[in-house]
Amino acid sequence: MSTDVSVIHTERKDQIHRKGEGDFDLSCNRDSLAGAVSQRACVFCGSRVVLYPIADALHLVHGPIGCAAYTWDIRGALSSGPELHRMSFSTDLQERDVIFGGEEKLHKALDELIDRHAPKAAFVYSTCIVGIIGDDIETVCASVAEKKGIPVVPVQSEGFKGNKRAGYHAACKAMFRLMGTGDTSGIPILGINILGDFNLAGEMWIIKDYFRRMGIETVACITGDGRVDDLRRAHGASLNVVQCSGATMDLADMMKKSFGVPHLRVSYFGVEDMAESLYSVAHFFQDKDPGIMDRTRALVKEELSRLYPVLQEFRKALTGKKAAIYVGGAFKAFSLVRAFRLLGMQVVLVGSQTGTDEDYRELYEITDEGTIIVDDSNPLELTSFLKEKDVDVFVGGVKERPIAYKLGVGFCDHNHERKEPLEGFIGMANFAREVHSSVKSPVWRFVPRRNGRV
Ligand code: SF4
Repeated sequence: MSTDVSVIHTERKDQIHRKGEGDFDLSCNRDSLAGAVSQRACVFCGSRVVLYPIADALHLVHGPIGCAAYTWDIRGALSSGPELHRMSFSTDLQERDVIFGGEEKLHKALDELIDRHAPKAAFVYSTCIVGIIGDDIETVCASVAEKKGIPVVPVQSEGFKGNKRAGYHAACKAMFRLMGTGDTSGIPILGINILGDFNLAGEMWIIKDYFRRMGIETVACITGDGRVDDLRRAHGASLNVVQCSGATMDLADMMKKSFGVPHLRVSYFGVEDMAESLYSVAHFFQDKDPGIMDRTRALVKEELSRLYPVLQEFRKALTGKKAAIYVGGAFKAFSLVRAFRLLGMQVVLVGSQTGTDEDYRELYEITDEGTIIVDDSNPLELTSFLKEKDVDVFVGGVKERPIAYKLGVGFCDHNHERKEPLEGFIGMANFAREVHSSVKSPVWRFVPRRNGRV
């Protein structure tokens, strides 16, 4: 079956590449095509994704209630303590507020919520309409901060002013305002911040435990299971370990520039990337602690000896099956391509909402001939690619799930809603199990397109 070319708009053609067909020059990081119903989220959503897991902060969405619709306890970011982040607060702007301004309403909402919930800090998110009517949230936040004695931080995340990536940047700028305001005494030399992990299904705890076994203390979790006081002293850490190429990289850059904290880019998905991440952190500290490399080797060996027998079983059943990947940040796609290869599967489609030129070049390097590489796709395109490649499993998030199920294709949730930890060595076993149960589910026998084949 070939791609239905009519679903590919001429203006989208340079954002799609089939490996092996001409030179690779994928266009990316630009505004979505109007009317294309992009899978991308808005700026506000990008900032909310990053800041949401800070569990002892108040998160107030300044805008119409519709913007907050997707915020109430929908994500899987767990907390080991306070759970204020699970609540969804909105100023619920109405027509009257749009005409006369919403500053007074915002002031009152902050007053009431801070008194009621006693948060350690408050984040106030600007939405599209706030950008249009021009509410001065900076001044409102400063006045409430002074009155209540806690940081009240505006997040300049008006939905229309860019794409999800701009939201990540707005979140990083907001967090950076807290940094440098806390006491750094007592932070050991082997102290790190973990950036870009959101503790989905407890993943931050798995990673923190690996570092603990290596002799490393985590100063601040940014932002999974995050705390405001930890963010305030995060500049005292020796290293920022940053997962994801998009979400918190800007914060790492700001911290390097202002506080001289170096950073390493890592990924905790898949066996190779997980091990490589631990070794690169151990390498960074080996001058200060010569035993760290041996401890890391022992840890990796122990974990692999448990994991490999499990993987071999799944590999037998999955070899030759085809996978498609469409995720938010491209870093995840790199690890997923390697993880599928380890399971004997072939990745035939890979794309992301916010990949950069560098990201897509790396994807081009690691994928097989014929693989479709796509930037900022939409449901029609994805549907057409999935049908053309006759995939067995689609990995994506909440917006991709219905596309897969409508086509009778297995699905694996790799997004913020997931309830299964997929990071770390144990996460690779969970991933293999989930892919296996979805691909081999007997339900696909009843899908006519697959002719009873599972
Ligand atoms: S900020 Fe704008 S684009 Fe984002 S949800 Fe609200 S109205 Fe929609």
